[in-house]
Amino acid sequence: MQFSASNRKRWLSEMEEETLDVLVVGGGITGAGIALDAATRGLTVGLVEKQDFGGGTSSRSTKLIHGGLRYLKQMEFNLVREVGRERALLYERAPHIVIPAPMMLPIYQGGTYGKWASSVGLLVYDRLAGVKKEERRRMMSREETLKREPLLTDRGLKGSGLYVEYRTDDARLTLEVMKTAASHGAKAVNYTEVISFLYDNGRVIGAEVRDQAGGGTYRIRAREVVNAAGPWVDELRKKDQSLEGKHLHLTKGVHLVVPHERFPLRQPIYFDVPDGRMVFAIPRGRTTYVGTTDTDYIGSIDKPVMTEEDRDYLLKGVNHVFPTVDLKPKDVESGWAGLRPLIHEEGKSPSELSRKDEIFQSSSGLITIAGGKLTGFRKMAERVVDLVAKRLADAGVRESGICRTDQVALIGGGNLGSDGFSRFREEWTDRMEQAGVERSRAEALIHLYGLQIEGVWERAEERPDRLTAAQVDFAMEEEMAIRAVDFLVRRTGSLFFDRPRSEADAPQVLEQMAESLDWDDERKRMEQAMLEQEQKQTHPPLAEKTG
Ligand code: FAD
Repeated sequence: MQFSASNRKRWLSEMEEETLDVLVVGGGITGAGIALDAATRGLTVGLVEKQDFGGGTSSRSTKLIHGGLRYLKQMEFNLVREVGRERALLYERAPHIVIPAPMMLPIYQGGTYGKWASSVGLLVYDRLAGVKKEERRRMMSREETLKREPLLTDRGLKGSGLYVEYRTDDARLTLEVMKTAASHGAKAVNYTEVISFLYDNGRVIGAEVRDQAGGGTYRIRAREVVNAAGPWVDELRKKDQSLEGKHLHLTKGVHLVVPHERFPLRQPIYFDVPDGRMVFAIPRGRTTYVGTTDTDYIGSIDKPVMTEEDRDYLLKGVNHVFPTVDLKPKDVESGWAGLRPLIHEEGKSPSELSRKDEIFQSSSGLITIAGGKLTGFRKMAERVVDLVAKRLADAGVRESGICRTDQVALIGGGNLGSDGFSRFREEWTDRMEQAGVERSRAEALIHLYGLQIEGVWERAEERPDRLTAAQVDFAMEEEMAIRAVDFLVRRTGSLFFDRPRSEADAPQVLEQMAESLDWDDERKRMEQAMLEQEQKQTHPPLAEKTG
């Protein structure tokens, strides 16, 4: 059945009526990956998420599919190897949202990496992470470095290394995986919170959930329950009365966003800040974002925010290496704060804590997965579902075979692969350009939707009657169709999921939405939003935004 907000109630009722093989708590990348792995092994799967899908840490990362260079410094060689392999796999499965982004590593006198250490380090990294020959690191002289990135200070600069990373859109990646899981039969419902677990003779057999969008509670039964609640896993372990032994150590990471014209970086860069840590600065669209911090966190898990201290730390870091940029607090347009669900290790500082994932099994049978990275989600899922599958097999319920997600196509990438996607993007960019859509806009939409651009475009072309007078006013002329669809998608997101990125069910709900919207009201909203956008560009406020 289609992954759609219109199926929420139906899926909740169905889940209440059956006994699932596995119930996953948490709809971030970890939960989505587990749902996909379990569904593709033929298990019956339900997933509940208390916010929007990806509303937790999975929309608040640095948005990189890492090869894990920093793990090398911590001598975590297996981790480098694993994430490198995963990265290559993901690039082939979802080339529309996993995009190569050569990263510059400037080398300064007294910096984290010396010239030879960088050269050897990047070489080892390339080999361990299985980087393709043509993408392997390139060392650059001081002159070449400054030519490539003239904003860098030349004081103490010795040269740089250029190595491959991939940028992504974390929340969209989570949705991609979730949609793919749903296409394999998983029932995933957002805005549904686990309020307590159900037990039989001390064994967990499901959960009572509250539907925060439609109201009401449901009792969902499952043979296995997986706690994939990211920074909230210990709260759920508390509900299960199994919070003992290892526990989470939450660290906060903040990114800030400035207009690209204020920090006109030519390319992504990973540089030293004065306290010896390293941060990324990444140009993206009309902005450049900078992050991250890494500080111990005690506070509301639901609403981590960027403080002035976080902001000033990052500004100072940028101005240290890019003195002519001279960023000021008033340049900060927005930002986001996320919590890393790391596993506590006595005596270690936030940056020293391992990013490795770990599975805990409670005496009630609750399976908890903690730690990890966005990049490694598929392997984390494999380990969890191997355990679930073993338990189900031991209990004589079913044999479910081995993990095959390394061969499963994600919904927007299909079987295109990276080469196929390049051709697809060319074809579609030409086609949309001929229909009057600006080339860069077309490319952005193709990267957003992948193969699903076909459906979105068809609707725009097929249903001009839906895009009537009121929309034309703001959607205007040739870009009308694509803009209006994009807009509808955003409204659909905001009505059904609270976040504009969640166009997952747009094709289904689009029609319904077009009919139900008060277009006069919509136009006013749109005009207001455009006005605010213009004002923001002229006078960027010091604003904080999470998520
Ligand atoms: P989450 O995404 O937080 O998902 C858990 C979900 O559980 C939440 O959506 C929450 O709402 C839900 N939930 C909680 N309680 C309940 C309940 N009772 N009922 C129902 N649902 C519930 N990794 C990379 O690979 N690359 C990067 O560039 C990168 N950068 C990062 C930068 C920062 C600042 C941070 C903080 C992390 C970064 N990471 C990165 C790590 C990565 O983002 C996380 O490891 C990953 O997103 C964690 O996903 P998750 O699904 O485990 O947790």
